[in-house]
Amino acid sequence: MTEEEEKRIHRYEKRQKRRRRELMKRLVCLVGVILLAAAVIGGISYSVSKAKKNQAREAAAKAKQEAVLKKEKEEKEAEIKKQKEEEKRAADNTLTPGVPVGSDTASTEKTVYLTFDDGPSQNTQPILDILDQYNAKATFFVTGINQDYGDLIKTAYDKGHTIGLHTFSHSYQQLYASTDAYFDDLNQIGEYVKQKIGFVPCFIRFPGGSSNTVSASYSQGIMTTLSQAVQEKGYQYYDWNASSGDATGSNVPKDTIVAEGTSCEYTNIVMLLHDAIGKETTVEALPAIIEHYQSLGYAFKALDRQSFDAHHGIWN
Ligand SMILES: [Zn+2]
Repeated sequence: MTEEEEKRIHRYEKRQKRRRRELMKRLVCLVGVILLAAAVIGGISYSVSKAKKNQAREAAAKAKQEAVLKKEKEEKEAEIKKQKEEEKRAADNTLTPGVPVGSDTASTEKTVYLTFDDGPSQNTQPILDILDQYNAKATFFVTGINQDYGDLIKTAYDKGHTIGLHTFSHSYQQLYASTDAYFDDLNQIGEYVKQKIGFVPCFIRFPGGSSNTVSASYSQGIMTTLSQAVQEKGYQYYDWNASSGDATGSNVPKDTIVAEGTSCEYTNIVMLLHDAIGKETTVEALPAIIEHYQSLGYAFKALDRQSFDAHHGIWN
């Protein structure tokens, strides 16, 4: 091999080496670029998915917060609505001279207005429990006789029953002595009830009903006078068109009360019952009376301003 040839080969090898190095450099560069690109893409996609996850988490948290706020708002609105309804009920039940109360015609809806006189007593709570059990509302014409049980007036009112005024003393001799004597007694029971539920109700029931003739022994014509006078003062009196028969004595047999208490066929039934001492059999008879009328499609309601007042004829 000539020197010239050796030099050529040497130069050739050198070139080749350079090329390989160049190639290697490029390769390394390319791999570097690919790796960098992968890292960048990976990084971006990681950031994107992280951002997406954050967004989803934030959206979920926001939705949860909104749901909580919505529920709170609904609860508050329901509470305000209930409060307004209660205020309306109290206003409707309050003695307001000049605003009429009661209706002399029955409605067309099959309704039983159970009315309990002469309580509260130890028999009132069991009656409230039975009414709850049958989801029935009723009316209590209360007295001031048995004040140990006076707080049941509020219990009954809070359960949605109507409170009416019967008499403070339930002494015919005392309250039918004169018009003034009657109103003294009525004001007394009105104030007593106001202490319990915050207002004087406009619903009343005369002891013995407006048709009683016992009052004639104490004051001639007093029922004629009172039946007008109470309405002029903003009250309405409620008599009854059905009796449970429990007024005829203490603890009338349960079966007698059930038989009489289920015999009425009016569309609007205003039934006389008692929740005083000695009326334990009324408590026992009550479920059968309620079941009878519920099976016939009657609703059990508390008296309100629009209810049928079931006035009797007046004989004194
Ligand atoms: Zn009575």
